[in-house]
Amino acid sequence: MERILIFDTTLRDGEQIPGASLTKTEKIEIAKQLEKLNVDIIEAGFPISSPGDMEAVKEIGKVVKKPVIAGLARAVKKDIDACYESLKNVKRPRIHTFIGTSDIHVKYITNTTREVVLQRAIDAVKYARNYCDDVEFSAMDAARTDFDYLCKIVEETIKAGATTINIPDSVGYAEPYEFGNLIKKLMNTVPNINKAIIAVHCHNDLGMATANSMAAVLNGARQVECTINGLGERAGNASLEEIVMILKVRKDLFKFDTNIKTEEIYKTSKLVSRLTGITVQPNKAIVGANAFAHASGIHQDAILKKESTFGIMTPASIGIPGHELVLTSRSGRHALKHRLEHLGFKIKDKEIDEIYVKFLEIADKKKEVFDEDLLTLMSGRGVTVKPLYQLEYIYVATGNKILPTATVAIKKGDKLYKSSATGDGPVDATYKAINEIVKEEVKLIDYQIKSITKGKEAQGEVSIRIKKDAIEVNGRGISTDIIEASAKAYLDALSKLEREKQVKIKKKGYKL
Ligand code: MN
Repeated sequence: MERILIFDTTLRDGEQIPGASLTKTEKIEIAKQLEKLNVDIIEAGFPISSPGDMEAVKEIGKVVKKPVIAGLARAVKKDIDACYESLKNVKRPRIHTFIGTSDIHVKYITNTTREVVLQRAIDAVKYARNYCDDVEFSAMDAARTDFDYLCKIVEETIKAGATTINIPDSVGYAEPYEFGNLIKKLMNTVPNINKAIIAVHCHNDLGMATANSMAAVLNGARQVECTINGLGERAGNASLEEIVMILKVRKDLFKFDTNIKTEEIYKTSKLVSRLTGITVQPNKAIVGANAFAHASGIHQDAILKKESTFGIMTPASIGIPGHELVLTSRSGRHALKHRLEHLGFKIKDKEIDEIYVKFLEIADKKKEVFDEDLLTLMSGRGVTVKPLYQLEYIYVATGNKILPTATVAIKKGDKLYKSSATGDGPVDATYKAINEIVKEEVKLIDYQIKSITKGKEAQGEVSIRIKKDAIEVNGRGISTDIIEASAKAYLDALSKLEREKQVKIKKKGYKL
C-alpha cells in the first residue's frame, strides 16, 4: 500500500503561536517524541529568524537521527545560508524555501511582479540544491494563486531541482472540493509533476484544514504538513492526529498507510500541551479529554456489550488504556454495575435496581459521580449514610491585626463536642479546632474553593482531599460562608476516612 508522508511542523508553525515559545531543551524533548511517533519529516525551525532557532535546529539534528530534519528559509540567499549552516551536520537534511505566489502576496509582501517572484523561486531552489539534495519549495498562499501562474511556478521549481513541492492554503481559505480539484488539476496539467512529491499545508481558519488535506490526498498529494494538537498560526494547522487516524480508520476509502506509530499519539499530544502550556479543548477529535468518554446511558450500555457500537477506533490504538465511562445522571444500570464490580463489589441482578435509585439521587446533585461517592453509597448498601461528624456551629474571629481564632461545635452521634484554636488564618484555625476533637492525624493534600452560583448570595464549594497512611478521601462542603464550607468539607472527609477504615473494601486500580 502506498504511503502518505507525515511532515510535522509543530516546532516551526506550531511554535509561532503567541505564548507557545519553547526553550531549546523543550524543543529537543518534543523532537525526540516525534521520532518515537515515527514522523517522516520534522520541520525543526526557521534558522534565520533567531540565533535560538538556529541553535535548536542544530541540536535537534544531533540527537534525532531517523526522520528528515527540515529548516525553513525565505527565497533569499542569507536565509538559505543560515538554514544550511544549521543543517550541515544533520544526517538527512532538507532545506524548505518559500515565497508568496498569490497576486496579493506578490503585490503587498514582495512588492514586485509575478515574473520576479518566479525567478526568485527558481534561483532559491537552485541555490539550495548546491547545499542539499532534498529541497522543498512552497508556493505560499497557493490556494489563492492564479492557476496558470501556479502551474508555471511548480513546473519551473521542479526543473530547478525541488524534490518536494508544497501547495499551501496559508490563510485557511480553501474548501475541500475546491482544494482537491486544485491538486487534481495540477497533477493533470504540470508536465513534470511526477518528478516531485506534492505536499499540502492547510490552515484551519474556517475549520477545514483536515478536510482540505484529505481532499488533497485523494487527488494526488503524498505529503501532509501538520502539527500535534493542530497548533499553528491563528486557528492552527491541520492536526496530525486527525490526518493519521482518518487514514487508519478509513483505510477502506483512502487506501494509504503512514509510518506513524499511532500508539504514541496520546503521549505526544500530552507532552506538547504540557510544554507549550496550550491545553487541548476537551472535545478535540482524537486527543481531547472527552474523545473516548461516553456519557449517555444508551452508549455506555452498548459499548460495554461491544466496543465497536459507538467506538470507531480503540483508545488503545492512540495509546490510551481504556474507554472512559463518566458516571452521571444519564448513566444506566449496566455502566453502574460495571464500575461497582471494578471497585470490588459483587452485585446481584436483583440488587442493582435499589442501588441505582440511590445512585441517581447522588447523580442528580453532582455532575459526575466518583469512586468515593460509590463507596459511600455502598457502605450503607444503598442507604445514604449520615456523615459521622456534623457541624453544629462555628464562630470565627479574624482580621489583619488579630490572631485568627475559631470555635467549633461538632456532633458525633448524640454527643456534642466543643473546641477552640488559633491559626495562621481562619481556615487553619478552624481545622485545628476540629483536630482537637477528632484527634486524627491527616495530611491535607488538596484544597480548592469555587463559587457554584452567581450573584451576591453565591454559594461557595470547598473540595478537599486528605490522606491518612494509604487511604485518600475527598470531602465537599457548600455554604454561602466559605469558612463554614471549609469546615463542612473537612468533616465530610474525616467522616469518609473513618468509614473507609471500617469498611475494608478491596479497590482495584480500574480508572473510569
Ligand atoms: Mn503555515
